[in-house]
Amino acid sequence: MTTTREHGAAVEFDGVSKWYGNFQVLRDINLSIPQGSRIVLCGPSGSGKSTLIRCINQLERYQQGKIIVDGIHVTESHRSLDSIRREVGMVFQQFALFPHLTVLENCMLAPIHVRKMSAKDARALAIEHLEKVRITNQAEKYPSQLSGGQQQRAAIARALCVRPKIMLFDEPTSALDPEMVKEVLDAMVALAADGMTMVCVTHEMGFARRVADRVVFMDGGQIVEAAPPGEFFDSPKNPRAKSFLGQIL
Ligand code: ADP
Ligand code: MG
Repeated sequence: MTTTREHGAAVEFDGVSKWYGNFQVLRDINLSIPQGSRIVLCGPSGSGKSTLIRCINQLERYQQGKIIVDGIHVTESHRSLDSIRREVGMVFQQFALFPHLTVLENCMLAPIHVRKMSAKDARALAIEHLEKVRITNQAEKYPSQLSGGQQQRAAIARALCVRPKIMLFDEPTSALDPEMVKEVLDAMVALAADGMTMVCVTHEMGFARRVADRVVFMDGGQIVEAAPPGEFFDSPKNPRAKSFLGQIL
């Protein structure tokens, strides 16, 4: 069922559990993400971070509980799927641009097919977002002609062209050479400054300190700590969070 709510969280997890076969990957996730807020999700590899955010835009299904995205109950119906994909943009670790299309064409694709925009309007929108991530001069190139950092910024621009209300990032800088990490983080900081609701899986703790309202730490499919960044980094309460920070900082 689809309902619309005037107010409320951008994303709400209510007792969500998920299994891959017999393996329980998410355990009773309760998380409320207010509109305009920025969540950084961290935790050891295999703790369920990717699975959690992929449930938000229905790349994964869940078996128990409820996820509400901007008033839409995330179910398996096509109606919910179509609405969710319009509301939620996602940027992955691997850049996932279409290799046979130029950067500009990559950005124009969804506005034309999903938003039913004219090519002219889609082009203007694409250029606007390519300017925001500062790669307008790469618009006519193919992904393989770009650096990793440029490709990732193009992927951010492409996601923004759908005009999502929520942006999900799954380790967007992990596959980048160190000198390119900053340009991608800068684009994400600018997006946060624009007021976008963001859920970012990242171990870039400088970014988390600067941008996050709340750091959510997962371990073994559970949220074991959630706190503002200052509190989380300076005095983590959970022993597993403490030892995790010891390893990465
Ligand atoms: P993270 O992003 O925190 O590294 P993931 O959400 O990718 O964690 O994975 C959590 C756990 O679920 C891991 O143990 C992983 O092996 C397992 N897993 C992920 N995807 C699948 C899948 N499609 N089928 C079975 N197990 C999976
Ligand atoms: Mg992951």
